[in-house]
Amino acid sequence: MTHKKFDHAIVIGGSIAGLTAARVLTDYFAQVTVIERDHLQGMTDFRKGVPQARHAHGLMLRGLRLLDQMFPGLEQELLAGGAIQVDPGVEQDAFIQGQWLPRFETDLRPIGCSRVLLEQTIYQQASRHPQISIREGYEVQELLTDEGRTKATGVVCRARTPAAAAETLLADLIVDASGRSSNTPEWLAQLGYTPPKESVVNSFPGYSTRIYERPANFTGTWKVLIVFPVPPDRKRGGVIFPLEGNRWHVTLFGMMKDHPPTDEAGYLTFAQSLPSLRVYEAIEQARPLSAISGYRQAENRLYHYDQLPRYLEHFIVIGDAVYALNPVYGQGMTVAAMGSTKLAECLQSFQGKENLIGLAAQFQKALGKIVAGPWQMATGEDMRWLNAEGGQALDFPTRLIQKYMNLVVLAIGQNPKVTAQFFRVLQMVDEPTVLFKPAMMLEILRTVYRIKRAQKTAPGDAAALQPTTG
Ligand SMILES: Cc1cc2nc3c(=O)[nH]c(=O)nc-3n(C[C@H](O)[C@H](O)[C@H](O)COP(=O)(O)OP(=O)(O)OC[C@H]3O[C@@H](n4cnc5c(N)ncnc54)[C@H](O)[C@@H]3O)c2cc1C
Repeated sequence: MTHKKFDHAIVIGGSIAGLTAARVLTDYFAQVTVIERDHLQGMTDFRKGVPQARHAHGLMLRGLRLLDQMFPGLEQELLAGGAIQVDPGVEQDAFIQGQWLPRFETDLRPIGCSRVLLEQTIYQQASRHPQISIREGYEVQELLTDEGRTKATGVVCRARTPAAAAETLLADLIVDASGRSSNTPEWLAQLGYTPPKESVVNSFPGYSTRIYERPANFTGTWKVLIVFPVPPDRKRGGVIFPLEGNRWHVTLFGMMKDHPPTDEAGYLTFAQSLPSLRVYEAIEQARPLSAISGYRQAENRLYHYDQLPRYLEHFIVIGDAVYALNPVYGQGMTVAAMGSTKLAECLQSFQGKENLIGLAAQFQKALGKIVAGPWQMATGEDMRWLNAEGGQALDFPTRLIQKYMNLVVLAIGQNPKVTAQFFRVLQMVDEPTVLFKPAMMLEILRTVYRIKRAQKTAPGDAAALQPTTG
């Protein structure tokens, strides 16, 4: 790269958003320092700063591709570490909106692996990068600015050891990637800036997760099993994702506070009550390898950093610190990688400039546009739960989108073009808007019309087209 480089950038948080941001920043800054509360080196198990890692983490294909571009060879390293490649069309059985998706060969190949393997593989690459230094076991406690409080100039951090002294680090850009516990709203308020407005849509999802050994005599043809709840009555769902080391990551979840228990008997009983018995049947005889962990606070939360009246310059916020999406839809890590890619694009337009004044506003507005689609998807689906907080004022476009998505699901399986497109949208390779293009809409509406007509003229034959609950 031949960009004129700024001197130093600091990233707060060394998780997916933080490490991907660090990587793209190396193209524009001579040195990047990541400050992370936990110790990452040699991490073989879950760490405190990312409690969600205990729960099933699906990485969408778009996320995998972006990560592989940023960290060349990452996918191969993951596969070498035991990650499992999956054709989501034929090796993933998914029960969505009350019906099993048809089996349909695709050219999409996302992978399944533990969040620990994913993070550790990214970390290994990031820590080998000559321009990245990672301060592990350090917590950022304060944001520093110039005298006029117009721009950020650095941070105060402290090693997480007794009696550690505070240390000051200065930089040309500070990136907050500290996740759901971000201090930025308070920091901005203390500095006299208007903090971001916050939107919350809560369908009160709750997770309980256990790791199992994949039974040696397992004869199923799926590698991934997904059973989604069926609003408005059947609130329970579950997934089985493959993990390296011949293991299954089994997450049961329930919406609207109908949460799965974390005790042995209650866990299996809950599995028996999903809209399909297949998750229960898979784990009934399988050998558990872990305790059962719960996670209860997974609402959609969006801080509108794209709409601030005034920006603290040289300071940006990314990842879950901006948007935390209901994880049931598996978008967070991919959107984090999309955000870092957008950061690189924004920095490109500052090439040759003397400072980064204006970057904060430009980036946060651009990130706002990226997040809008995944936010609409997650909250639109969550609002199917009638009592969801924020869901009472269901607007007309959301209702229309929900109705249209019902038609899309009805059409898949009956129309290969729609099916292929749907899988690409599910893997976030294509934007959901492709389903709303006139030609695709026509395809969907024609297919639904054919189905409805068949149901009217020959109700017996049309039974095969009805949603299944097996
Ligand atoms: C239960 C659950 C399941 C999920 N499942 C999926 C899934 O299937 N697919 C998917 O794509 N996404 C999923 N997500 C979302 C995904 O985990 C996040 O989107 C992703 O980790 C990106 O987050 P992040 O890097 O912004 O923040 P995080 O991953 O939360 O990381 C924040 C980091 O900042 C560090 N930190 C915090 N404060 C400080 C500080 N003051 N100083 C230094 N370091 C600090 C923390 O230790 C941590 O390492 C799930 C989330 C939850 C809650």
